[in-house]
Amino acid sequence: MGDYFERIIDLDVASADASTLAEHMVDWMVSRRWLLRETSCDGMYSLQVDEGYVPGPDWPQITQEWGADWIPGPVAVIIGRHDHYPGRGGIEPASAVCPRCQATTVIIDYPHRWEAEPAVWQPFSDAIDAWKRTGTGAAICPSCTTPSPITGWHWADGFALGALAFDFWSWPPLTEDFITEFAARLGHRIEHHTGKF
Ligand SMILES: [Zn+2]
Repeated sequence: MGDYFERIIDLDVASADASTLAEHMVDWMVSRRWLLRETSCDGMYSLQVDEGYVPGPDWPQITQEWGADWIPGPVAVIIGRHDHYPGRGGIEPASAVCPRCQATTVIIDYPHRWEAEPAVWQPFSDAIDAWKRTGTGAAICPSCTTPSPITGWHWADGFALGALAFDFWSWPPLTEDFITEFAARLGHRIEHHTGKF
């Protein structure tokens, strides 16, 4: 068995609100006995945090049935502005859609290229770095030449920017109902990744 995770990223929460929202989400999951307050670092490999909340007695309510002897790992709560890549490698998104004109900018021209075109990716990368540092960053759309906040762009390949994320380590697949309720509780758009460490 490899170590794998499901990650839910809040795409819209403001950095200033991320800690409070994280507390609400953990309180909710603890009240449902899906998590305990207790934390552990066993069997988790989130890049940004070392410890997560261990599963509570009723955790099977929110996952598919994988057998009674399954024991999931901790749930990491990642607060702070990060770029989240699905899977392990930090491969850039293949494309980005402008929030204003909906034009698609190709970043990796598969299958002709397997790497980001530096001249195309650099302005996005710079805007992402600025956002991580300061909370704001904008990229200019090559089609309509209008700058838009980097967090408003739509990315291919599940690439996501967000100030709050949750990593479920080695849980059986989370149910659709749970994901839907989780997103409703956050009150924002989400991205949902599954990956292997
Ligand atoms: Zn545009």
